[in-house]
Amino acid sequence: MPLDPQDVDYDPLERMRYVTFKELDDFYDAMGTEHPCENCNAQEWNHVCDSEGPVALKIPAFNREDAYAVAFVISCKICGNLRQTNGGTIIKWLDDRAEK
Ligand SMILES: [Zn+2]
Repeated sequence: MPLDPQDVDYDPLERMRYVTFKELDDFYDAMGTEHPCENCNAQEWNHVCDSEGPVALKIPAFNREDAYAVAFVISCKICGNLRQTNGGTIIKWLDDRAEK
């Protein structure tokens, strides 16, 4: 699986399968995700993940057959509030950073 955006076979959607905790933390830090939880004002978050790493959610479209969005999610440690971020936005940010 080509993970280099310069590779002709590169697929940003496939790249989402290999996102690491460190990459997500870098993205969230750059985007100001230290802002407190909207519900309880806590500032500690967990990645939605399993033993293999971050888990991306596949959100099916209501009005399009086979269309979906992919999102990475963090969960407030205190109240469980979920924050979703579009996977494509994260991959674009990571790719742009890698090019610098
Ligand atoms: Zn909270």
